[in-house]
Amino acid sequence: MAATDLEQIVNLSKRRGFVFLSAEIYGGFRSAYDYGPLGSLLLRNVKNAWIRAMVQERDDVVLIDAAILAPPQIWEASGHLANFTDPLVDCTNCKQRFRLDKLDDPDTCPNCGRHGTFTEARQFNLMFKTQAGPVEEAGTVAYLRPETAQGMFVNFANVLNTSRKKPPFGIAQVGKVFRNEITPQNWIFRTREFEQMEMQFFVPPADSARWFEYWCQERLDWYVRHGIPRDDLRLRRHDADELSHYSAGTSDVEFRFPWGFDELEGIAQRTDYDLKQHAAASGERLDYFDQVTGERYVPYVVEPAAGVTRTMAAFMLAAYDVDEVGGEERTLLRLHPRLAPYQVAVLPLSKKDILTPLAGEVRHTLAGRYMVDYDEVQSIGKRYRRQDEVGTPICVTVDFDSLDDKAVTIRDRDTTDQVRVPIDHLVDEVADRLGF
Ligand code: ATP
Repeated sequence: MAATDLEQIVNLSKRRGFVFLSAEIYGGFRSAYDYGPLGSLLLRNVKNAWIRAMVQERDDVVLIDAAILAPPQIWEASGHLANFTDPLVDCTNCKQRFRLDKLDDPDTCPNCGRHGTFTEARQFNLMFKTQAGPVEEAGTVAYLRPETAQGMFVNFANVLNTSRKKPPFGIAQVGKVFRNEITPQNWIFRTREFEQMEMQFFVPPADSARWFEYWCQERLDWYVRHGIPRDDLRLRRHDADELSHYSAGTSDVEFRFPWGFDELEGIAQRTDYDLKQHAAASGERLDYFDQVTGERYVPYVVEPAAGVTRTMAAFMLAAYDVDEVGGEERTLLRLHPRLAPYQVAVLPLSKKDILTPLAGEVRHTLAGRYMVDYDEVQSIGKRYRRQDEVGTPICVTVDFDSLDDKAVTIRDRDTTDQVRVPIDHLVDEVADRLGF
């Protein structure tokens, strides 16, 4: 049973240290969130799982990490200064602001319910503008990047010249981006500061449609492989009037959020738009010379662009479950072992000093390979529940018999089954169960 109500996940996140309202002691800061001890591990695991699939397990994609602060020239050439806008309307009755293209009914205010009270739509640019250096004058303006993709385009020649890759090949990046959203909403689904995982796949123009289909399927499969039921996902092709200024065709991977299907990731055919724009604006050559065919061309780009924080929310919602163990209700997150904040929890049965050295040793043995929690407070039953609720796939209990038989009990999160395992075999047994 996935969470049907966002509040269930929001509360669990707050209670257990996944996500806090940013600057909470000052009343919170405009839909910004901080990721706590468990949330930051989950976020990191989402990013690692993406890098693993997109870079590590392939030989045609490389990773970069470009600057967040970027000069106006980039955004002028990319079209973001002119086009990265959302239509903003004000309700003249209740004074609330809305993004026109996200309203169910463009004539009715969802806040006060009045009809025909909206102002004319104004195009509002979503980029955060700032200044680099101490003097406020022309030439010091900089923008916080609203997408990571431009880092790949402006480094296209650098990567081509240094990596020995040739089309078809990709450049991937994971990092923070900033958008001055008109209506941040739904917890971490839409915020002004968030992280993206993007990849530009550069291909010969004639192969672009084929690669687009390939990446749509590949990306959909990635969510399924990491635990989201196929039924809760769908691919939705954009209508022509929805397309971004750079796209010749986009499909979204959508997840069944509690409020309905909504976007997790966009896969776009960006054609040669960005490379051509940057080549023209910078005067640099951004194309590829194929020595075999003797042909020079500007590659087309297929871009899977996903949100880290949004994906984290989807994984939590899909993993949420309530079942019954020993006549008692328990809440658990059935997170994929690669995503779970902790893979293993080491739980000495008692706080007594006599168990501490052995439990510490067991923790140490596992910690070289896995993220391990160590908890000796409260009854063992309560500690199991705590680990279930944060998605820890395996608990290892060290008890008084362990001192003699040099064995521990392994408990499985999903089945609650327990087996006795010699400490000497523990790491292999855990690896077997986790699958890595
Ligand atoms: P929307 O139309 O919903 O504003 P978009 O289609 O412009 O978003 P993209 O530019 O395609 O979004 O961004 C790629 C991915 O980045 C999205 O699929 C989403 O997962 C994530 N993303 C975009 N905006 C936000 C946001 N404000 N907060 C969190 N994640 C976001």
